[in-house]
Amino acid sequence: MPDFCAAFGCSNERNAKTKEQGITFHRFPKDKVKRRAWTAALRRRNFVPNDRSVVCSCHFNSEDFDRTGQTTRLKEGVTPSIFTFTDHLSKVGVIDNLPLYSA
Ligand SMILES: [Zn+2]
Repeated sequence: MPDFCAAFGCSNERNAKTKEQGITFHRFPKDKVKRRAWTAALRRRNFVPNDRSVVCSCHFNSEDFDRTGQTTRLKEGVTPSIFTFTDHLSKVGVIDNLPLYSA
C-alpha cells in the first residue's frame, strides 16, 4: 500500500516523482502527546493516525529537518505547521488553543 500524505488538501504520495522533488515522508510520532499535536495540526475531522500514517515534508519548515545523516529526519519535538486550508477553515491561532495535554 502506498504512503499518502495525511495532510488536508495534500495528495503527495511516496513515489519516484516525489523522491525526485526531494519530498520526504515522516511517520507520526509514537509519543501520544506529540501525536495529538500532529493530529490537531492537520485539522482533519475524525482523522485518527495509525502507525503507517505519514505527513510529507511540505508541511514543515526547513529548519525542522535534520539533514546531517544519510536520511532526512525531523528534529525532536517539531510539529507540521505549513498547510493550505480553504478560507473558512483557516483561523490563525486555533491550533495554539487546543487542549493538547488534557485527558
Ligand atoms: Zn503533504
